[in-house]
Amino acid sequence: MENTVLIVEDNEINRMLLMTILEDTYHVLEACNGREALDILRDPKNSVSAVITDLIMPEMDGYQFLEVYSSTPQFSNIPIIVSTSQSDSESEVKCLEYGAWDFIKKPYNAQIIQFRVKNVIERSELYALRQLRYQEQFDTLTGIYIQNMFVRQTKKMLKENPDKDFMILHFDISQFQVYNSVFGRREGDKLLCHIADLLRKVGSKQEYMTYCRVEADAFCICMPAVDKELIQKLMDWFQKDLQAYQRDYNILPNLGVYYVEDKSASIPGMIDHAKLASKECKGNYIQNYYIYTEKMGKSIQEAQSIVSDMERAMKEEQFVLYLQPKYGLAEYKLRGAEVLIRWLTPEGMVSPGKFIPVFEKNGLIMKLDYYVWEQSCKLIRSWLDRGIEPFPVSVNISRVSMYNPRIVEEIYELTVKYNVPPRLFQLELTESAYTDNPGTIKKAMQQLQEYGFTILMDDFGSGYSSLNVLKDISVDVLKLDMKFMANTGSENQKRSESIVANVIRLAKDLSLPVIAEGVEEKEQVEFLKSVGCEYVQGYYFAKPMPVAEYEKLAFTEENM
Ligand code: C2E
Ligand code: CA
Ligand code: CA
Repeated sequence: MENTVLIVEDNEINRMLLMTILEDTYHVLEACNGREALDILRDPKNSVSAVITDLIMPEMDGYQFLEVYSSTPQFSNIPIIVSTSQSDSESEVKCLEYGAWDFIKKPYNAQIIQFRVKNVIERSELYALRQLRYQEQFDTLTGIYIQNMFVRQTKKMLKENPDKDFMILHFDISQFQVYNSVFGRREGDKLLCHIADLLRKVGSKQEYMTYCRVEADAFCICMPAVDKELIQKLMDWFQKDLQAYQRDYNILPNLGVYYVEDKSASIPGMIDHAKLASKECKGNYIQNYYIYTEKMGKSIQEAQSIVSDMERAMKEEQFVLYLQPKYGLAEYKLRGAEVLIRWLTPEGMVSPGKFIPVFEKNGLIMKLDYYVWEQSCKLIRSWLDRGIEPFPVSVNISRVSMYNPRIVEEIYELTVKYNVPPRLFQLELTESAYTDNPGTIKKAMQQLQEYGFTILMDDFGSGYSSLNVLKDISVDVLKLDMKFMANTGSENQKRSESIVANVIRLAKDLSLPVIAEGVEEKEQVEFLKSVGCEYVQGYYFAKPMPVAEYEKLAFTEENM
């Protein structure tokens, strides 16, 4: 394809002369001054390959034109030749400063002009090619390798050193977007360049080391394998450096380590493994590096398929409510139930212990919790409609749902929608959630109590701040953690029993009823009764069961 040359010249005769010299080889466009020239250049369909400009013109002269030209990145690789009438070194210097590529003199010499135009176009093409090559190898922001080159270099290094052990490190900055929004993108870029400089510095001292910027704030290194202690030292050093770099912000790096096993395996695969390990650091302020284990890959795979299954499962009503009865120890009678979700897939049942932690990580739990609450309200409504005076039903609130600022309203509105008296709809919140954000939770729980809901503190005794929590927060019932029941017959039994007895005494002082969970044996029941525990829940009495089964069990003469 023909290249296009733009002639910028107010003198018509000069324009015609230049036109005759160039029109055999190029497609030629004309402009009478800088302003017209800029219009032509900005129009993308013109795709100009070179510009010849006069200096003295009306409206916008050559200097002004050059000034705009050189400050427009879009034109940075379009060569510009200045045509001058006399050799005036002062104006030439000025033109060069503004980015002129070459000069031609009046009167015109056809051959010289043809050569100069040809040369600058070739130069610009070469430059563009080189730039392209650069971008294929280097990250334009930091100037270090991009992943492709890292992969190539690393492959070579691994191949040439079959006797050496290597590791791949993948790291990024925890909450880099926050850093960006606090200090601005520019500062964010500067931080990335600082990290790249560090890599260069370390890399220049290492015989065997490759590194690159993978994407955004993520970097990769391949170097000889070292043990945990050295990795920790490395991280400490890195963190110190970052702290010195930015004192107003705690920059936290997350590192994942993959020890290379099979040197001929795919390098991008190794990077993925290291990246997976680094993800374990998220939300963990104590440990800032993790070493890849096969289990990590598995649980992520499992988690991903669980997430993609969730939406469909919801529609297909694969989430089913089970009810586990609670018994009063005074008369050994059924006195209520806890709703426990079951996921019935065509392949079988998935236990909540598997999918709830996953849903809590990705936030889907809020949807599921709401679904369970709504289904539970519907269930209670259906009992009331059948003229039954049901026992209260408790539902679980995930700690994650407590971050929903509308949680109190949502729960209240549900019970209004289904016309369910709050006293029949009890709420279980696990003890450790109270320590997540005590202020907010305390307030929400108080509001719910004011609406008439009963609050049960679930898994009481599982954390180590239980007693502290009790001082600050008003709950209505304590659910004693299952772990106290697990020790029957073991050496720890005496200790557990003494704790249980004390907790129950303490609860009595605070006028709090206690439900013991996980009761599986007769001896446990007798012991609990002897120390004044009022309620129990556990396999000894009943396992979680489908709704129909619960109805049969609960709504009989002997229980009512
Ligand atoms: P949780 O709230 O502490 O529920 C009690 C768990 O203990 C239930 O497990 C129950 O089936 C089990 N269990 C009851 N009696 C016994 C016993 O005698 N021995 C033993 N070994 N276990 C007993 P499940 O149903 O597998 O649920 C596990 C956890 O999943 C629950 O612990 C709760 O934290 C969560 N979960 C279950 N359903 C829901 C739900 O609808 N929403 C939310 N947010 N979490 C739920
Ligand atoms: Ca519970
Ligand atoms: Ca529990």
